[in-house]
Amino acid sequence: MHHFHYRGEDLYCEEVPISALAEEVGTPFYLYSHATLTRHFRVFNEAFQEIPHLICFAAKANANLAILNLFSTMGGGADVVSGGELFRALRAGIAPDRIVFAGVGKSREEMVEALKADILMFNVESSQELRLLNQVAGEMGMVARVALRVNPDVDPKTHPYISTGLKQSKFGIDISLALEEYQLAQSLPHIAIVGIHEHIGSQITDVTPFVDSLSRIAELIGELRTLGIEIRYLDMGGGLGIPYDDETPPHPTEMAKAINPILKPLGCTIIFEPGRVIVGNAGILVTKVLYTKRTPEKDFVIVDAGMNDLVRPSLYESYHAIQPVRRLDGRGRLTVDVVGPICESGDFLAKNREITMVEPGELLAVMSAGAYGFTMASNYNARPKAAEVLVKEDRHFIIRARESYEDLIRGEDIPDNL
Ligand SMILES: *Cc1c(COP(=O)(O)O)cnc(C)c1O
Repeated sequence: MHHFHYRGEDLYCEEVPISALAEEVGTPFYLYSHATLTRHFRVFNEAFQEIPHLICFAAKANANLAILNLFSTMGGGADVVSGGELFRALRAGIAPDRIVFAGVGKSREEMVEALKADILMFNVESSQELRLLNQVAGEMGMVARVALRVNPDVDPKTHPYISTGLKQSKFGIDISLALEEYQLAQSLPHIAIVGIHEHIGSQITDVTPFVDSLSRIAELIGELRTLGIEIRYLDMGGGLGIPYDDETPPHPTEMAKAINPILKPLGCTIIFEPGRVIVGNAGILVTKVLYTKRTPEKDFVIVDAGMNDLVRPSLYESYHAIQPVRRLDGRGRLTVDVVGPICESGDFLAKNREITMVEPGELLAVMSAGAYGFTMASNYNARPKAAEVLVKEDRHFIIRARESYEDLIRGEDIPDNL
């Protein structure tokens, strides 16, 4: 459910016609609906109202300050995976005691920053990391609160690049070694065990992998308790999928129904780290058709957004629906590749897609681009990053200005005496 809809011929975001925004900010740009963002957050939050919980929005899905701040005002926190994301979360006004820090490769500097900020907990992914964190906290005269990220060896049945909870994955501590690692953690003077963490993958469209992995984690929590290790927080990660095409992922209330019976008896505060399910369908990428081109083999629609703006189709072969911003009657349909201006054959937004015929200068909306869209954008081909716009009812806000050419060369230098 989202707030991008046609009124007559024109695609609107809430009360604002998208073509008018394109006139003002130029193309390409990311466009987010305030009503969709808040609705998704609220629906997720209310689905789990029966159990004590905290929603730590996964900042890597969409790290714009205005969006992080919005979830913070709704009682949310952040799941961060780098010092940069921690910086963003704090700048956005998220309370440190609602920030959790995951990732297999935290540096000493990042540990220092997070300890200084006094975040809720580190989600630790290896024994070397645990020992370094103990050492760093000791040097600072502090105790680091940790959860160990456990890899439950469950197949989330999603794209291999976004599966994270299988035995062969780089993430977490194998569940068979978890007790040992917890005992190590307990022996370290500057570590305080407060929780357990898992995150099994992304764009998961079935409750079964969540149920299976949580059953294993629940059993482990029981074993830890018999060893005198108390677990206050069960952080179950994110991963709930969204409909990009014809997927039918469970609604958060269905997910709650399936997992609450496992979670409730544990008496833990549950931390959720949803990313995609909150922001994915709340954002689109608006792009302009530059040319149409017919080769003996194929028809192409060449647009002004490329893989540097939205890499998901190139990286994961992801499907994004593509809709005209002005829907004109009497147009034919054509099967095309929608491609960008980047000098790579992998630069496409859609392949062999039947769309309504378009002409140069017309606008297209690439749907479901609110998650892993702007955050994965790059400056490849020296392309300034697109603007980000947030609409609330009949008002709009530029929440990130389009980059300039000067932005592209910031920090570069031609040495004098090379
Ligand atoms: C990516 C990630 C998430 C969010 O995943 P979604 O599929 O967007 O919900 C949550 N937790 C961790 C540790 C992650 O790496």
